[in-house]
Amino acid sequence: MPIYEFRCSKCGEMFEELVRASDKGGVECPECGSGHSERVISSFSFKSDSGVGTAAGSSSACGACSKSSCSSCG
Ligand SMILES: [Zn+2]
Repeated sequence: MPIYEFRCSKCGEMFEELVRASDKGGVECPECGSGHSERVISSFSFKSDSGVGTAAGSSSACGACSKSSCSSCG
């Protein structure tokens, strides 16, 4: 389940909540108990997985000759 950031429109408190995709209503503010909150889209929650797994398969290769079998360079 994704964690969304909310900001209370009454007192301005920022808080995070676990919400379901079907849950579109405002969540209750833990500070003042107000139900009037709006979701804040934080940019750092959109991480890409690129750059992971590129080194797989080449770890056993020889660093000197870039071959899997090192009969030439030892
Ligand atoms: Zn509040």
